[in-house]
Amino acid sequence: MVIIQTTQRPDALGRFGQFGGKYVPETLMPALAELETTFRQYQDDSSFQSELNELLRDYVGRPSPLYFAERLTQHYRRSNGTGAQIYLKREDLNHTGAHKINNALAQVLLAKRMGKQRIIAETGAGQHGVATATACARFGLDCVIYMGVHDMERQALNVFRMKLMGAQVHPVASGTGTLKDATSEAIRDWVTNVETTHYILGSVAGPHPYPLIVRNFHTIIGQETRAQALEKWGGLPDILLACVGGGSNAIGLFHDFIDEPTVRMIGIEAGGEGIDSDKHAATLTRGRIGILHGAMSYLLQDEDGQVIEAHSISAGLDYPGVGPEHSYLKECQRAEYYSVTDQQALEAFERLSRLEGIIPALETAHAFAYLETLCPQLEGSPHLVISCSGRGDKDVQTVAKLFTKLHD
Ligand SMILES: *Cc1c(COP(=O)(O)O)cnc(C)c1O
Repeated sequence: MVIIQTTQRPDALGRFGQFGGKYVPETLMPALAELETTFRQYQDDSSFQSELNELLRDYVGRPSPLYFAERLTQHYRRSNGTGAQIYLKREDLNHTGAHKINNALAQVLLAKRMGKQRIIAETGAGQHGVATATACARFGLDCVIYMGVHDMERQALNVFRMKLMGAQVHPVASGTGTLKDATSEAIRDWVTNVETTHYILGSVAGPHPYPLIVRNFHTIIGQETRAQALEKWGGLPDILLACVGGGSNAIGLFHDFIDEPTVRMIGIEAGGEGIDSDKHAATLTRGRIGILHGAMSYLLQDEDGQVIEAHSISAGLDYPGVGPEHSYLKECQRAEYYSVTDQQALEAFERLSRLEGIIPALETAHAFAYLETLCPQLEGSPHLVISCSGRGDKDVQTVAKLFTKLHD
């Protein structure tokens, strides 16, 4: 299948091949149109760009380093001396501890230009909620974060951070009390308050133009990687590896390389208790095409097409949908998608901590876990870049509880 040119994706209707689109209540159509117009107006506007770039540099701490993981590389070295040379794109070093801030700050700048004083957002692990609360505090905007009650419990530290920065955290008890339910609630709020409110969606999911806008604001991850790779080894990366929840850190890393045929791209989903169990979040591996939260994409659903619960040890990957562009990249085989289990992610969480002194987020640990499968299959010494999407401070309590269980 021939891949649609990157500049033509999404098309004018917000489609990536058959995926994407705008499946929303009529009341939201004007708001989505306004958002798209504002985005296109400021995308190449020099005063917008310089305000954003200054914030990314002095407030977020960009560029994030491309770090050579020497001991991790050694760990996977073969007896003949070859093996992947592993580099980490350190989004975990950003202010607030993950890639999410790139998008949250940029969307707040758009909201200001649209004259909207009230911001809402959904959050799973709380990283997008924290990033949004941070950006709102920085610009003095009202902020309401929708979060499932189950996630509030497992990510209590992030709930406190959001409140500390003045955000209101709205518990969502419906459904499983996780990210899908929080997203539905945020959309409901937006329908009611669309005149005054901007909805900052946290991944490359949802109705057009969100997958386009959020991709655009994370593309800096791949652009920096390209420049850093050129400086460090004078070439492109051979392999890009990232975890996929909605898919924003993965698209951020991939986007600048999609038209480079030599660059292999791999996304890792949450396999939960195993993809043959009914407790996982492996949407691209096990899902079928359907519509959720305004877009057509792969989805976890039952025989009747009802969306089913996702499960993952990491709240940020615990979502039954995925960004439409990933569905497209899978379908035309430009990117590959696999899954790892909760257990494999936990092992990788500990392995990276021990080998590199870097405690990754549980989401991020999924990408690292796949090295166990991938590295033995590789020939030669390819340059492999992993998106180190976030740090694990928020997860140490969860993991500590599990480790006591395991080691008792
Ligand atoms: C939110 C989050 C993810 C998952 O979201 P994507 O949109 O797939 O990137 C992954 N890693 C971290 C650290 C996160 O906070």
